Amino acid sequence: MDCCICSPVVSIYRPPRNSICASCYDGAKSMIAFLNELDGGGSKCLPAKGILHGFEKMKEMHEREEEMKETMGFLDGLVTLREGMHADILVKAGDGQPIPAHRAVLASKSEIFKTMLLADDYKAAPLGDTISLPEFTHHELQSLLEFLYSGQLPRPELEANSTVHSLLVAADKYDIPFLRQLCEQRILADLRAGNALDALDVAQRCCDGKLKERAMRVVVEKAEEVVFSEGFEEFARRNAELCVEITRALVSNKMTTTTTTTHKSERGA
Ligand SMILES: [Zn+2]
Repeated sequence: MDCCICSPVVSIYRPPRNSICASCYDGAKSMIAFLNELDGGGSKCLPAKGILHGFEKMKEMHEREEEMKETMGFLDGLVTLREGMHADILVKAGDGQPIPAHRAVLASKSEIFKTMLLADDYKAAPLGDTISLPEFTHHELQSLLEFLYSGQLPRPELEANSTVHSLLVAADKYDIPFLRQLCEQRILADLRAGNALDALDVAQRCCDGKLKERAMRVVVEKAEEVVFSEGFEEFARRNAELCVEITRALVSNKMTTTTTTTHKSERGA
């Protein structure tokens, strides 16, 4: 196909045809639909303002991204705070040494921390400069604080799934919606038979309906692998309620499959 957009042949050497290949056509259409959606027009109002408008929009987005990078670079200065400079409170996990932090940072990122710190301020005999979060290990608490100061999760290759699960629980308990969103995305992106039970467990604890549904789907699809895995017995001991739900999901899936097969064979007969 001699496409007038992506052909490697310089236009003066090409015959004067205005044909466009499927890839360029679909690409242009999707780009316009996407930009219309950004403009708030919805994807249905094609053909909108054309591809040139799309190009202008893309340039604008690129400029905004550059500005954002500069802002992020500027805010990286807060790293000194993360290192404990001018800390005014100690946060203590279930194990290890207390970690220095800043009341203002904790209070600004979580309404729950804010309330805890205010309550502390108004006590006649204050607890002192330490808050205890014994449900976390030292490493988990460190990761939570890192997030509160940087807005970033540890890189997946550097962090065990269990820490992300603990951070999701923390996000739920301390009402940190952005952390919740990032943890959920991270767990969903890596969801498979080998970790679906853990995902189901944490989704249940955090009342995360979307994660629970997706994890349950993996459990049903990979039932053999999951149910005969090493961890299933231990999971069943801790999660009787979820086991009932898994059994029901498996049975109803089997019923649906049987019905579909019967219908197909009846039609085939
Ligand atoms: Zn093309």
